[in-house]
Amino acid sequence: MRKRIVEVLVPVALDHTYSYGVPDGLELEPGDLVGVPLGASDTLGVVWTKDPVFDPRLDNRLKQVEGKLDYPPLTPELRKFIDWVADYTLTARGTVLRMCLRMGTQLGPERVRVGVRLAGPPPARMTAARQRVFALLHDGLARQKGDAAEEAGVSVGVIDALVDEGTLETLALPPAPVARPPDPAHGGTDFSEAQRAGAEALRASVSKSGFSVSLIDGVTGSGKTEVYFEAVAENVRQGRQSLILMPEIALTGQFLDRFAQRFGTRPAEWHSELPPRKRARTWSAVAAGEVSVIAGARSALFLPYADLGLIVVDEEHDPAYKQEDGARYHARDMAVVRARIADIPIVLASATPSIETEVNARRSRYQRIKLPERFGGQSLPDIEAIDLRREGPARGRYIAPRLATEIKLALERSEQALLFLNRRGYAPLTLCRSCGYRFACPNCDAWLVDHRFRRRLVCHHCGFAMPAPDACPHCHAAQSFVACGPGVERLEEEVASTFPGARVLVLSSDLVTSLERMREELKSVADGHVDIIIGTQVVAKGHHFPKLNLVGIIDADLGLTNGDPRAAERSFQLLHQVAGRAGRAEGQGRGFLQTHQPEHPVMKALIAQDREAFYAAEIAAREKSGYPPFGRLASLLVSGGDPHSAENFARKLVAAAPHVEQVRLLGPAEAPLAVIRGRYRFRILAKSSRTFDLSGYLREWLAHAPKPKGNLKLEVDVDPQSFL
Ligand code: ADP
Ligand code: ZN
Repeated sequence: MRKRIVEVLVPVALDHTYSYGVPDGLELEPGDLVGVPLGASDTLGVVWTKDPVFDPRLDNRLKQVEGKLDYPPLTPELRKFIDWVADYTLTARGTVLRMCLRMGTQLGPERVRVGVRLAGPPPARMTAARQRVFALLHDGLARQKGDAAEEAGVSVGVIDALVDEGTLETLALPPAPVARPPDPAHGGTDFSEAQRAGAEALRASVSKSGFSVSLIDGVTGSGKTEVYFEAVAENVRQGRQSLILMPEIALTGQFLDRFAQRFGTRPAEWHSELPPRKRARTWSAVAAGEVSVIAGARSALFLPYADLGLIVVDEEHDPAYKQEDGARYHARDMAVVRARIADIPIVLASATPSIETEVNARRSRYQRIKLPERFGGQSLPDIEAIDLRREGPARGRYIAPRLATEIKLALERSEQALLFLNRRGYAPLTLCRSCGYRFACPNCDAWLVDHRFRRRLVCHHCGFAMPAPDACPHCHAAQSFVACGPGVERLEEEVASTFPGARVLVLSSDLVTSLERMREELKSVADGHVDIIIGTQVVAKGHHFPKLNLVGIIDADLGLTNGDPRAAERSFQLLHQVAGRAGRAEGQGRGFLQTHQPEHPVMKALIAQDREAFYAAEIAAREKSGYPPFGRLASLLVSGGDPHSAENFARKLVAAAPHVEQVRLLGPAEAPLAVIRGRYRFRILAKSSRTFDLSGYLREWLAHAPKPKGNLKLEVDVDPQSFL
């Protein structure tokens, strides 16, 4: 009898599959999850192809599949997507598969939940607390112990005592479902004319099904979320699964509650802080088709949906969609690819679409749904520049007098003010007053950032940290350090001394380290428990703070100073989004941009609220230089422990590149951040025309080029977003 063989892809950094024998009696189909021996241990794998052409000489070394796992098979759609992403991004297929199988190792059942219910007569000794428990459980229904305690407003100890006395009994509750089914008829929304038309168009795309891309292009506060909920509602009616992708930080309690208002229940969530068991259960429920709507960060794109019918990418322009380590992919772009492979509609939403998306909409490749006004007639914030050359603050201070006056007025009106500064820590540079010595990172080509709150000087690139010494390491002068420039912590100091009594909150990713904490902090802002918010970019993302009418941007020039081809776009988007937090509920929002260059096109477009002018200029510039989306880019970063061998290797790589007319190679050049973690970095850029298969070219090139050896490393990034 002929031996049966399958090719299995395993979730490790390998591109190729392994052949395994199939034991008698086991039926396997492509997509099946199997256990296979790999090296010394067993691993999970996925049957990729059946009955491959097999070299019989390998026969006696062939290992056997251990067995099939009891999970739904990966769909052909997902397997095709894995192959596509791997091909396009030059990532090993096994690495992409690993992203799809990220359900952790905890595939066991959820811990048993302990419930309590009424079982006997009231206790002999009745207290007020016991009375409340008794009243709550009087209906005879079982409740989870912790919930019962919370609802009755008593400690768990009170419940336990009642169990001991026989008034209550415990029982095991079945695990809570990952998410209850959303009800598309639960909440209605009274739409404005433009919203209604937009919702109608999206509903039509969903009910027609088939691949299509729609862009909800709506000003901040125009109700984009409300509108795409209607697409989700239609998809739920069709009985298919929906994925709502958003930047992790925008996936707040506020968002989940809004979903619940519309659908009667929260959606299932997928993000980096999901506890392992919940993660495993969510994964299985998605694969089994038991979850109808997932709201998730970018990695949710790789879940094994049983029947995906719609993808929404909220804040589609957000740089957080680009994953920079491991597999380098842009989740928005790959979402469009997945929608195309699955042949389903995808909806992108933004107030400041990426240049790529804007160009696609202008060329009618994407359907544009315009929401030109804020909901409820709120007007967009007025934006003014504060010219730091003429009316800047005193030395060592960062809030200009005009902005300070406005903050004071806002506080008097019991409104909030948001000060935006995209710089963590206290000061970006510390130097010695007597000799000019600057604290630099020993591992990186970067200055150490003073983090007073943590009492450390910290490198933002490698995490190196040290306490600030008492004396200068160079000239030994004592107490000679000065902080140069502002960070959010320093701004807080200034705010505290200028507005004594105001409740101030600093929101920055290094101070609020867990997503849950961040959600709480954002909620306290939305609930009005804070007067002045000082924040880095974490405050820019889609939050809705009803009492916020004033936004001050402390250093509007900050994002324009690095040598990134996307600097103008990024600055425009970020500053526009931040200013868009103002005036969303009541009153007129106002934004103040502190800048040294009010005549810069980005500042002018922001002040004049002339988005079109900005896009027109930026698109023309991209077209002229052949930058995306008018051309394609890939970056090859070579790094190594010593600069010479790294640079040499980069040169050899370039020398080995095939010459074709459509590709231009730039470099190798020392990267702007020339050293990170003690590794010297050289960058090669490959630039091609838009229609050229740049990934194919790179694969061909690298297959025949010298391989990085020893300490050398080569990282390929197709469609790079960062050039540092
Ligand atoms: P965007 O995402 O465009 O910035 P949101 O979707 O967050 O705007 O909407 C802004 C606010 O307006 C939210 O509080 C939302 O609940 C409210 N809103 C938008 N459209 C409507 C509507 N048709 N009816 C009631 N409230 C709405
Ligand atoms: Zn460093």
